[in-house]
Amino acid sequence: MRYALIADIHGNLEAFTAVLNSIEKEEVDRILCVGDIVGYGANPVECISLVRERCSKVVAGNHDYASIGLADIDYFNPFAKDALIWTSERLGEEEINYLAGLKLIERENGFTFLHATLNSPRDWGYILNTFDAAVNFELQTDPVCFVAHSHVPVVYVKRDNFISGHRFVSKIEPGCQYIINVGSVGQPRDGDWRACYVVYDLQLQTLKLRRVEYDVETTQRKILEAGLPQILADRLSIGR
Ligand code: ZN
Repeated sequence: MRYALIADIHGNLEAFTAVLNSIEKEEVDRILCVGDIVGYGANPVECISLVRERCSKVVAGNHDYASIGLADIDYFNPFAKDALIWTSERLGEEEINYLAGLKLIERENGFTFLHATLNSPRDWGYILNTFDAAVNFELQTDPVCFVAHSHVPVVYVKRDNFISGHRFVSKIEPGCQYIINVGSVGQPRDGDWRACYVVYDLQLQTLKLRRVEYDVETTQRKILEAGLPQILADRLSIGR
């Protein structure tokens, strides 16, 4: 069984479409979404409908919940907040019911995936270093846990009670535990503007980090035409 893991799409239809085209070539069996379908970008409704069509399982992100009033909007920075208010005005009953039905944590074939952290799934904590990773590992029962939220792909490995951080790893070793941040489709923040996703082969126990070019100018133009904050367009071309 081969999986594609995607996250932090954030209403960026051009990046999402490019990633789905790339996934076709990877011959995966199932696509899993690790949260934040909406927020920041100009195509929240279109992205929700594509996720519903293409993804087998989906967890909620903080923007998904906040856009329908299930997470506190005051917790967001002013630009994110503006975009959330804009997004919430565009969602119909269909989209609201769908987002409201998403769980915070899902399991699949012996691994876990969620947007934030196992110790604070609904307070939307981040795993940004080995200390944060240690707290998550305390509650992690599966060998592999996929997360998102920081928009930066990274892997934490726990081996004999020692935790190390890696830009990425290509192999899941037996006897170790892994936290794998799958990066962001629609708003990467690791200095690489290209859309990001992960391919996980369950039988081979291999991981691949994929980067995909997309029509970023169109995405930026749509954000500006929608009246969303300029910074949300600008940051896309530098991946920050
Ligand atoms: Zn996000």
